Amino acid sequence: MIEEVCKNIYRIGVALPGNPLRELNSYFLRGDDRDLLIDTGFRRPVCREALQAGLDELCSDPARRDVLCTHLHSDHSGMADLFAGPGRRIYMGRTDLARISGLLPVEAWLKMYTRFPLEGFSEELLREVFASNPARTEAMPERDPRLTPLDDGDILSVGPYRLETLLVPGHTPGNCMFYLREQRIMFTGDHILFDITPNITSWPGVADSLGDYLASLRRVRDLPVDLALSGHRKTGDYGARIDQLLAHHERRLAEALSIIRSEPGLCAYEIAGRMKWKIRAADWDSFPVVQKWFATGECFSHLDYHLTQGTVLCVERDGLRRYYPAD
Ligand SMILES: [Zn+2]
Repeated sequence: MIEEVCKNIYRIGVALPGNPLRELNSYFLRGDDRDLLIDTGFRRPVCREALQAGLDELCSDPARRDVLCTHLHSDHSGMADLFAGPGRRIYMGRTDLARISGLLPVEAWLKMYTRFPLEGFSEELLREVFASNPARTEAMPERDPRLTPLDDGDILSVGPYRLETLLVPGHTPGNCMFYLREQRIMFTGDHILFDITPNITSWPGVADSLGDYLASLRRVRDLPVDLALSGHRKTGDYGARIDQLLAHHERRLAEALSIIRSEPGLCAYEIAGRMKWKIRAADWDSFPVVQKWFATGECFSHLDYHLTQGTVLCVERDGLRRYYPAD
């Protein structure tokens, strides 16, 4: 499905079957001497066919097509190399670009995610997650030589449009939004989504993803934006949505802290199991394993925030990290 959202800016809906996100919004900007495709979908035949059909309908010529990835997640970057023209560019925020590794075996992922078993999420469960996780299996297979890093403030020009790079770490460490200041349009990627809450997890080498995310929300809160073009599903009121997301995380932080206060000494896996999640499952034990992984990661980010603020302490005991109120 194609929709012209603004003159020479088109949204191509790329279905993500079986995924709670349902659909990726890919955007095509037609310029004078080059075109720009923003985000691509998982590296999966059904996504490839949908995106190709949309581009064919727009008579897009690959020879003049650059690709821009708002962040490294494979539902955004997974097909960037297939859709960027020969000798063209694949833009991505510098920090995320550095983390693009290509396809790695499960063992390599286990080495990157050693935190999970320490927090009560067993290695057995982790193996199950990585065996089928599209973050591993539907990504770009290798680092492409056309990858080009972007830094905060970098400008990409396409026809009359000037896309200003805004580095907004949190959802991923090098996540970016792209701002058309003159037209008051924001490509929000997954930093701001309107009918789902962006997932904030912990990342190796990042102390406090949620703290970064909240600071990134506040940084861009007051920019004039009339049209927010998000990475998934529908659009909405930009500023009001940021306020909702800030309030949402305040509530979640309070929830995590109250669980730790009422049962000191739980590990993150147990705290995640006591938090409330919008999912159709009878209880924590019957969560699908991938949803348990997302929930535990989300819980990590809230615990890390509390650790950074000094409201919570973490003590390692019997090979498990356990959390206690600091007061
Ligand atoms: Zn994402």
